[in-house]
Amino acid sequence: MKDTRSKELYERAKVHIPGGVNSPVRAFRAVNRTPRFMESAKGDRIIDADGNEYIDYVCSWGPGILGHAHPQVIKKVMDSCENGLTFGAPTEKEVILAELISELIPSMEVSRLVSSGTEAVMSAIRAARGFTGRDKIVKFRGCYHGHSDSLLVKAGSGALTTSVPDSAGVPKDDTKNTLVAEYNDKDSVQKLFDENKDQIAAVIVEPVAANMGLVLPEEGFLEFLREITKDHGSLLIFDEVITGFRLSLGGAQQYYNIKPDITTLGKIVGGGMPIGAYGGRREIMQMISPDGPVYQAGTLSGNPVATTAGIETLNILKNDPQIYERLEQKTRKLADAAREAGKGHICVNQIGSLMSVFFTDQKVRDFESAVTSNTEQYADYFGYLLDRGIYIAPSQFETMFISNAHTEEDIEKTCKLAGEALCSLDF
Ligand code: PMP
Repeated sequence: MKDTRSKELYERAKVHIPGGVNSPVRAFRAVNRTPRFMESAKGDRIIDADGNEYIDYVCSWGPGILGHAHPQVIKKVMDSCENGLTFGAPTEKEVILAELISELIPSMEVSRLVSSGTEAVMSAIRAARGFTGRDKIVKFRGCYHGHSDSLLVKAGSGALTTSVPDSAGVPKDDTKNTLVAEYNDKDSVQKLFDENKDQIAAVIVEPVAANMGLVLPEEGFLEFLREITKDHGSLLIFDEVITGFRLSLGGAQQYYNIKPDITTLGKIVGGGMPIGAYGGRREIMQMISPDGPVYQAGTLSGNPVATTAGIETLNILKNDPQIYERLEQKTRKLADAAREAGKGHICVNQIGSLMSVFFTDQKVRDFESAVTSNTEQYADYFGYLLDRGIYIAPSQFETMFISNAHTEEDIEKTCKLAGEALCSLDF
């Protein structure tokens, strides 16, 4: 497969862009390949600068639940562009989107639009601290909540409660209020509550963890988080940037029937354009400026073109009640094919339209088991598929996204090639 143009662009990109990319995973460092520079996408296909076509399972890391360039969304977005790109003043579309969010995710009685998932989570944490008057937050090792300072912590192995920043440039003081627990481990959460009485503002969790590869919550784990936060006057924040409108129309909270106090959204809510949102109970959201003392703002927040894409996407999902069942069936087919070919050497986690293949014989249920995966084997698996026109996440610690545009034929083709890729590995 020719990659001359991608290589040229990558060399050029490295001159004026850090690492040649505007978000690190795109550089393909974890898989030792040259990143593909993309030019266009339609349905389940994405085409690179050399004209190679791939079946796309990255789907822009989640927003593309309808596939790329859905005609109805594109038409509305183009019409909206004609009316002006940004006003910095309120619009009806923001009202419609807030109403739609609240209809589909009733726990989000009141919500505020921002421009990314990072911003949504950062603001949700501020709201939780403002509402409770407490500073500490609990997050889980291996969960990603964007790149704001206080959340760039996963804590070193062993020392669960030492809050060391993961990134240079983050002062230790900025993470000292971030406590780290283990995903699917109730005791580790209980311990933090015992040691930090009346100090924890919120527990933030990806209800289905999708940033250490895909890791599902075990039975009772999310219920436990709901109970312990309630008992201690802390808030429960579901980071549904990935799961929102993906696991079901009402997100993971509908799927598991658990009502968080605050929810964060990104990706699908913007229909492929930059939108994030955070929201929750009215009394909490009344803390936000200009009603309350918690300041949060944004020049492009509620942008009219972006809200158009979001509204259109959510309406298409809402009007197609069978969509989630179809997504699940396609994804299950991929998961079953991988399990069959991997013959006990791999662990395949799947739920709804999310899926990960881990190169380990352990059951992956938390960060510790996720990192037992052989990332060199993942890189080989990735390379085999990339060279044959299948585009999956260029890192073990991401997830695969299946869209409504993936055809049965393309799923079959992927099952076959993934099977071959797995058989080609030296287990
Ligand atoms: N939360 C979760 C669960 C995410 O997966 C991500 C990004 N993948 C974010 C927050 C941050 O979103 P963004 O990249 O839009 O800032």
